[in-house]
Amino acid sequence: MENVINGLLRREKEHQDGIEACKTQSVALASRLAPGGQFETLLDPMTMQQFRESLKEIARDNVEKERQLQAYMDAVKSFGDGSNISEKDDIPAMLHKAVRNERAKIDKKAALPEEEETYKELCIQLGEKQTDEDDDFEMVNVDEISSLKCPITRTFMEDPVRNKKCGHVYSEAAIMINLRHTKECPVAGCSNRSVSVSQLEHDELTAIKVRRAKKREKLEQQTQSQNAVDLEDDDEDEL
Ligand SMILES: [Zn+2]
Repeated sequence: MENVINGLLRREKEHQDGIEACKTQSVALASRLAPGGQFETLLDPMTMQQFRESLKEIARDNVEKERQLQAYMDAVKSFGDGSNISEKDDIPAMLHKAVRNERAKIDKKAALPEEEETYKELCIQLGEKQTDEDDDFEMVNVDEISSLKCPITRTFMEDPVRNKKCGHVYSEAAIMINLRHTKECPVAGCSNRSVSVSQLEHDELTAIKVRRAKKREKLEQQTQSQNAVDLEDDDEDEL
């Protein structure tokens, strides 16, 4: 039974990775479909709009699929090593019930698909959502920026990799160097003391966010230096 359960979990994990890849690809595609994006010269506005809508539909659909898959995996895991199940049990019915339970738990704590992180990122990339519209923009911004800095180098992540075990993200080169000295996760307070290369996977979503944050930072600097020049001009006028 344990082998069957592990086999199921492995297969579903592959599906999950597939959805994850699809999500990050959608986000990457979105910036090209945004007004002023790469595709604007190739496609008419109507088609651009249609593509944008279908991309959003796919993204919402992916959130739903991912949650269903998570519920299924949690349900399978809830059977433990399978020692509580006997041949006589109606396993499909038990699984069905367990999936329903897990799904209810996920729905209770999960945000609406529209509020899911990748979906929001997709809308930003599509040029539809202005992050600075929010009143709490500054706060969100500071939090987001710090989550985009590598815990080792303290600068923006480069080739970010996510640790599958503890969820922490680092710059690839930095964690590789770090691993030569210690197996401890470099994030303060993290209990993962057995970091290995096999735990690391590329984190494309973080990479996209870093690119956007850098672009925004550059824009802000340009605006600031432009303002400074304007102020100097004003001073000269007064003289
Ligand atoms: Zn960690």
